[in-house]
Amino acid sequence: MSRFTLPRDIFYGKGALEELKNLKGKKAVVVIGGGSMKRFGFLDKVCDYLKQAGIETKLIENVEPDPSVETVMNGAAVMREFEPDWIVAMGGGSPIDAAKAMWVFYEYPDAKFEDLITPFSFPTLRQKAKFLAIPSTSGTATEVTAFSVITDYKSGIKYPLADFNITPDIAIVDPDLAQTMPQKLTAHTGMDALTHAIEAYVSTAHSPFTDPLALKAINMIIDYLPESYNGDENAREQMHYAQCLAGMAFSNALLGIVHSMAHKTGAAFSTGHIPHGCANAIYLPYVIAYNAKCAASRYADIARSIGLDGADDNELVQKLCDKINEYNRKLSIPANLIEFGINEDEFKQKVDDIAKNAVADACTGSNPRQVTVEDMKKLLECVYYGKKVDF
Ligand code: FE
Repeated sequence: MSRFTLPRDIFYGKGALEELKNLKGKKAVVVIGGGSMKRFGFLDKVCDYLKQAGIETKLIENVEPDPSVETVMNGAAVMREFEPDWIVAMGGGSPIDAAKAMWVFYEYPDAKFEDLITPFSFPTLRQKAKFLAIPSTSGTATEVTAFSVITDYKSGIKYPLADFNITPDIAIVDPDLAQTMPQKLTAHTGMDALTHAIEAYVSTAHSPFTDPLALKAINMIIDYLPESYNGDENAREQMHYAQCLAGMAFSNALLGIVHSMAHKTGAAFSTGHIPHGCANAIYLPYVIAYNAKCAASRYADIARSIGLDGADDNELVQKLCDKINEYNRKLSIPANLIEFGINEDEFKQKVDDIAKNAVADACTGSNPRQVTVEDMKKLLECVYYGKKVDF
């Protein structure tokens, strides 16, 4: 038996935010990040619409990028005091992911963070509140997924938490919010969305329910990402929907080792944090070359669906990698970790641990090719030095 879970409602289109007027409830906590939603006036709009719905609000703000366990626990304490029946999370992946985890500790104050690390082991939510998510970036799709990424800064590890309990009840996908994204963020989040769709399509958990969503997302991202990067309003709108389709696919088909590697390298180096989407974009072509031994025909499907041709599956896989490299160049994304600026001594010193951690990541289980720690180390060396993957 398999399961396919999505939010009960997805309101989308320009001005969809106004749907908040029709929310039924008494108290809502509104969770946001660093301030762009405030600056662009969207927070005021949200509070105003909730007021019109007769809902009292309380704000939890300043959720940092890559939210910490501490931020989650602090937010949960605020919720326990305010006792909302709605959690409204708005912004990029970080505030929405943090709010999902806060939700668990709001409803279960005695739960431990460690208990949530095992995938699909959460206690039953919606005993106190329901969850509404409003994304402002076009990538993570956390508004429709069963995932939340929380960072434990003590160990420098990002934990992808997974459970259908944290799939939101309502998503509002309003492209007006995505028009405010800076260019670099558009590039990184767009490539994150492409990685979601590609990993979902080749995942061992892919299904007839997820395949069409993944392929449509890939096609839309190939069509619209460069123009979205250049600020075209319609392309940005289409990317906002495409990333959501990718999210519906990967929330149910899961991901693969591009994400395992991104999770375990993101906060690992002292020379600089590697943004999630940027890490995925760099690793994706290398992982495709590695996975092709087991999933060439699936990658070939993707290549054909975006109009590439080739004499056989191997040629199609190569052309798909070429296409991704071309997009990375167009979007000013480095081709390897040296180019990104990671120090070689530090890389050499940490690669064994990172390889071990990446293999143990929750996303590794659904990768189409089984990965040993030894292979993972070789793969990390390829993405560091820009070497061809030939094993
Ligand atoms: Fe991602």
